[in-house]
Amino acid sequence: MTHPVFRFAPSPNGQLHLGHAYSALLNRQLAREAEGRFLLRMEDIDVTRCTRELERGVLYDLTWLGLDWEEPVRRQSDHFDDYRAALERLIDADLVYPGFMSRGEVRARIADHESGGEFWPRDPDGAPVYPGDDRYLSATERETRMAEGAPFAWRLDMSAAVAHVGRALSWDETGQGPEGGTGPVAAEPERWGDVVIARREIPASYHLSVVVDDALQSVTHVVRGRDLFHATAVHRLLQELLGLPVPYYHHHDLVLDDDGRKLSKSRGDTSLAALRNSGATPGDIARMIGLSSSGA
Ligand code: GLU
Repeated sequence: MTHPVFRFAPSPNGQLHLGHAYSALLNRQLAREAEGRFLLRMEDIDVTRCTRELERGVLYDLTWLGLDWEEPVRRQSDHFDDYRAALERLIDADLVYPGFMSRGEVRARIADHESGGEFWPRDPDGAPVYPGDDRYLSATERETRMAEGAPFAWRLDMSAAVAHVGRALSWDETGQGPEGGTGPVAAEPERWGDVVIARREIPASYHLSVVVDDALQSVTHVVRGRDLFHATAVHRLLQELLGLPVPYYHHHDLVLDDDGRKLSKSRGDTSLAALRNSGATPGDIARMIGLSSSGA
């Protein structure tokens, strides 16, 4: 029998907080219950915000919490070739295009549209979807702009990608979606519009690297916060386009602050380091988030 594989995949771009402790300990608990393996992955493709020093802090916090994981830890910035290979397959299939519009141009384009009284679609996170005008640039125009060094990001041609797959997609949810309940969830990737698949300088985005790595690491159970529930639709689409296996998904509740807001790395007060410095033990942390630190 092959064992289930779980992973905790933090981005070392700040200090871990109680929400990360919850996700990591829940992953470990579910892995133990399923007699599965537990992996750690550093999602550090954002090489400007992620640092080795922050990574050391993440490792320290997780060890302090009592976690251990299989070595070696996969660090995404060591594997850009894997993401580049996946990107090239999507380029060859004509399913991505270079999007040249700057944030300002996107804003102006949408403001112009909405000034006529028409609503511009928003993605599940509430951000306006990318206009995608440059989807229609000629190959020559694209090449010229790229050769001139114009900034761009590789964007998925969502309509083309959905048409290419040609059937409805879903995933098996074992946690709770925003509507609650476990079971099959219909994926609606089109709600995201033409998402970024890779950057000009970095041949990856979160969406691309997460599906490539979950497949390369044979992850069978993705356990992560509910804030990523809707992103799973994009992940299902990419898995289908790239012929990758589909894990189970378990989206867990987020740990909220006293005002009911999601915790953030920029607010230090609930960081594990701050709690430790004020005398909290790993057992206290586990109690604060309602999980067992021993994983027993
Ligand atoms: N790296 C992501 C984060 O820190 C988590 C990605 C995932 O679990 O799929 O929010």
